Amino acid sequence: MKLREDVWTKLFLSCSVFLTASALAEESTLLRPAAVFDGQEMHADWVVLVTGDKIAAAGPDVPAPAGARTIDLPGVTLLPGMIEGHSHMFLHPYNETSWNDQVTDESLAMRVARGTVHARKTLEAGFTTARDLGTEGAGYADVGLRQAIESRIIAGPRLLVATRAIVATGSYGPKFSTEVDVPQGAQEASGVEEVTRVTREQIGKGADLVKVYADYRWSKDEPSRPTFSQEELNAIVQTARSAGRATVAHATTPEGMRRAINAGVETIEHGDEGTPEIFQLMKQKGVALCSTVAAGDAVSRYQGWKKGSEPDPPRIQQKRASMKAAREAGVTFVMGGDSGVFAHGENALEMELLVHEYGFKPLEVLRQATSGNSSILHLIDRGSIRAGLLADLVAVEGDPTRDVAAVRRVTFVMKGGVIVREPQR
Ligand SMILES: [Zn+2]
Repeated sequence: MKLREDVWTKLFLSCSVFLTASALAEESTLLRPAAVFDGQEMHADWVVLVTGDKIAAAGPDVPAPAGARTIDLPGVTLLPGMIEGHSHMFLHPYNETSWNDQVTDESLAMRVARGTVHARKTLEAGFTTARDLGTEGAGYADVGLRQAIESRIIAGPRLLVATRAIVATGSYGPKFSTEVDVPQGAQEASGVEEVTRVTREQIGKGADLVKVYADYRWSKDEPSRPTFSQEELNAIVQTARSAGRATVAHATTPEGMRRAINAGVETIEHGDEGTPEIFQLMKQKGVALCSTVAAGDAVSRYQGWKKGSEPDPPRIQQKRASMKAAREAGVTFVMGGDSGVFAHGENALEMELLVHEYGFKPLEVLRQATSGNSSILHLIDRGSIRAGLLADLVAVEGDPTRDVAAVRRVTFVMKGGVIVREPQR
């Protein structure tokens, strides 16, 4: 009868684990911070009640149900979990290893191992969602990473993944001698038929959105130029749209941006050489600009720019001019830094640069990183502190609407009602 006892013991244990899990799922927690930023405005004396994985109530007078636990968070501001608009979980800073060497020399296992660490660091930095825009040669590993996070095998943000991304044949890298063909950092395609097929293939394998490179430098020492034709871009966007997916475009040149905007992409990534005319077109068509000022800043520093003691290199001067033109045209911004080019977990760098070097107010940048990004990325279940939304919450020391650097001082992170970073005492 030993066997039978074991079966009953196992059954009992699994039932009690199940009961504990479901009881926990409905457990209520009252969070009492010094202030709440709800995605739009600051509120002193608000509290937030979390039940299960959702925000049950937020406001000045929220009664805690019997048995609710209370977490006091003195001196901190509670924010909606922030949303990183542009990351690459399978890249690490280029001053550690060049992009080329990462794509060609690092095994998939190595890159995935790094990706799991990057995901955890991003979450611990208060970014509970990330739009990951291309695995850069790591195939469909982002689909598996997203699944591992959803299954709670590893800690990380909720991911929106682009999978391999699409580049025009011959336009991307790595490049060696003409006789050597190596796997590329994204999937190559040419012609309306092939781009349509590749778009469907990526969606079929798990892409939440489609990323296309509308321009790139055809060889190392030349400026970026358009890659895909208007017809090819139209086919990609329409194929993705009929599958319920948005298309986003890497584009830095005016012509690449123009074609992508006219094709119907939802966001332009970088937009470094954008002109007032192009930004007017973006405004008119409701296309948002993902700023990625942190990536340009990092790459310029890696290339030897002694920031603070040397004048801005031409690339940074151009970025400043284009960001100014975009703001004057009234373009909507996605807060996204292109993390991976610089260290994951340092996502706040983009927000700091936008405030300290690009003339944004802390409040504007906080809105971008929360309610703004949730709206542009169609994430209607998060990005604000409001009853019914996901309990993705971050506490930071001080008042980030006065000093944006406060978002680096994360003391508490909750994702879907589960505490992933405990408050420090
Ligand atoms: Zn990128």
